[in-house]
Amino acid sequence: MSPRPGQDGRRLPAPIGTFPLSWYGDILIKFRQLTERLLAWVKRGGTLIGIGVPGIIDMKTGMLRESPNLPGWAETPVRAEIERLLGTRVILENDANVAALGEKWLGAARDVDDMAMLTLGTGVGGGIVLQGRIWHGMTGMAGEFGHMTVEPEGPPCGCGNRGCVEQYASATAVVRMAREAIASGRAPGLARAASSDPEFSSKAIYNLAIQGDEEAKKIFARVGRALGICLANLVNAFNLNMYVIGGGASSAWEAFSPFIFEELRQRSLVYAATAPASPLSGGAGASGHVGPEGSTKTIITLALLGSDAGLYGAAQLPLTSN
Ligand SMILES: [Zn+2]
Repeated sequence: MSPRPGQDGRRLPAPIGTFPLSWYGDILIKFRQLTERLLAWVKRGGTLIGIGVPGIIDMKTGMLRESPNLPGWAETPVRAEIERLLGTRVILENDANVAALGEKWLGAARDVDDMAMLTLGTGVGGGIVLQGRIWHGMTGMAGEFGHMTVEPEGPPCGCGNRGCVEQYASATAVVRMAREAIASGRAPGLARAASSDPEFSSKAIYNLAIQGDEEAKKIFARVGRALGICLANLVNAFNLNMYVIGGGASSAWEAFSPFIFEELRQRSLVYAATAPASPLSGGAGASGHVGPEGSTKTIITLALLGSDAGLYGAAQLPLTSN
């Protein structure tokens, strides 16, 4: 993330609310420049624009049905509004779907035909790409892996269910589990970190885990186990070539990935039959490992494009949509 916003002309560090006022002005100027460039491109004949939005989207109507991260946007005709603003056709997609498409096009999954992706951020998103195209299901709501149940009596989730993957494998869940451990009185290392760090993020908890703090390590074991259960179900259901783990919280891969593979080996017959000889060797983006042998192996790997996956995927949308 750039220490000064807008330096690269398109990516803005979050949260915007904490910037000094002068930076806010910079952002507005950049936004105006971007909009002007976009409108100029539209006028030159660019008639299709892809946009990724967090939330559940009805592809047929272009309605944003529900978005935990955009309060007040439920049941909004987002596609029609943007089309009216820009005077051009817009393809609206779920943000996790566009991230999956980006990783398929130029990232970790560029050498495979079929893939699925889990995006670990504030929540947990999912996307499925088959033969280079996002698989939408009936109305565009397919791939909500973050709300698969991994613990029937687990913590309540914003979706109405309990024990969703998102309640264990998101950055939000990591912080919640750390605060639960602190409240129980059995995590002095986490308690010290929380009291000295007002932002106490999943990154700080990961740093403790890497330094050997037992309670922090347990938290990432739970992250890995939840993802492993989820992936075992996906592998059994889909038998895809590659499953990519991305999003900001995936940077803790070193701490949680061994537990993914432990669960997968125990819980998925399909994985046991198709696992590569050394699954962990694909840690930092295993695209290069997809050789002739890899094409019939189940590869679980870290994403390659970071926060740009969604940008690339959105750019690819007009080329892969009908
Ligand atoms: Zn849920």
